[in-house]
Amino acid sequence: MSLHAELAADLALREQRGLRRTRRLLESPQRARVRVDGQEFVAFCSNDYLGLAADPRLAAAAKSGIDRYGVGAGASHLILGHGTAHHELEAALAAFVRLPRALLFSTGYMANMGSVSALAGRGDAVFADRLNHASLNDAALVSRAAFKRYAHGDLDALEKQLKVTVARRRLVIVDAVFSMDGDIAPVPELLALCERYDAYLLIDDAHGFGVLGAQGRGTLAHFGIESDRLIYMATLGKAAGVAGAFIAGSVALIDSLINNARTYVYTTAAPPLLCQALLASLALIEQEDWRRERLSEHIAELRSGLAGLRWQLPPSQTPIQPLIVGGNAEALALSERLAAQGLLVPAIRPPTVPQGMARLRISLSADHVAADVARLVDALVRAA
Ligand code: PMP
Repeated sequence: MSLHAELAADLALREQRGLRRTRRLLESPQRARVRVDGQEFVAFCSNDYLGLAADPRLAAAAKSGIDRYGVGAGASHLILGHGTAHHELEAALAAFVRLPRALLFSTGYMANMGSVSALAGRGDAVFADRLNHASLNDAALVSRAAFKRYAHGDLDALEKQLKVTVARRRLVIVDAVFSMDGDIAPVPELLALCERYDAYLLIDDAHGFGVLGAQGRGTLAHFGIESDRLIYMATLGKAAGVAGAFIAGSVALIDSLINNARTYVYTTAAPPLLCQALLASLALIEQEDWRRERLSEHIAELRSGLAGLRWQLPPSQTPIQPLIVGGNAEALALSERLAAQGLLVPAIRPPTVPQGMARLRISLSADHVAADVARLVDALVRAA
């Protein structure tokens, strides 16, 4: 069979199993009300939790960034791509999360890949929650450290692994807010284990940054913790509404990553205009508490409206609300039924989530209004 015939056969098999993925075409900016494939919808699909992705103030800042710096960075950070916009943003991010230094990466995927593989290697061990994001798993595999996964949230299982390890350096990596479930990791307890077993804790706050903690300072602020065993990572394409990611921590950590993180060293710096947009975004995240307040109202409204339906809605105090449907075909059918009523909610299927745990991943945004949430609740109650 030719390569092409093999690929086509594989796709046909995916189709049969309800696992073939296709893309919808978004024709409007990313916000609660969108135009997709020629139709208007209320969407519950984005990670734009604060409703900043299409904010005109961010767009204006990006435009002024173009006027100052042009479009492309033109080089990697270590050659001559590291500009004042990147530098200023790194300082602002470090101050915002109250850590000594921050290092900007082009994407969250790259931040995880680059940092985990720079911090752990042969002879070391990486311990990971089973429900971690794919980028953390891939990072651990690429690092060549021993890769130990423990059942979701199971601190005893992690402790057993830490107790017996003979690895030189131990790194626990975990989603601070789990991307498909919305639950918050027990960060203080994880940190206590790291202290007891001489390990370090990298938390991926992709979904907590901007959303959790006072002024949206993230999961560390939410728990009120600080420790030199912590390595903090957050992404900037979700609540912050732009693109990119950063690692924050000690001066030595950041200087080491500048030298050793391959996804930092061997790539072109992000366009500086994005840094200008992010500086504007950071100010709004800090100032506009109403966005987080509105989100909390939506979360409470949705959860009380969906309580007692035949589908399970596991505990989540974040904008990610997972409605567990079970079968792939059933999840897809429910998503399509909602779409027919003008409501877009993605069906998430394996391998993104475990077998038999297909779900609607409802994500809420400060750009939704109460009536949007009420419409979704009503449609789901009727469908149930
Ligand atoms: N970590 C987590 C927990 C995520 O959910 C994501 C994005 N889905 C990433 C990392 C990757 O971030 P980015 O989209 O910026 O590559």
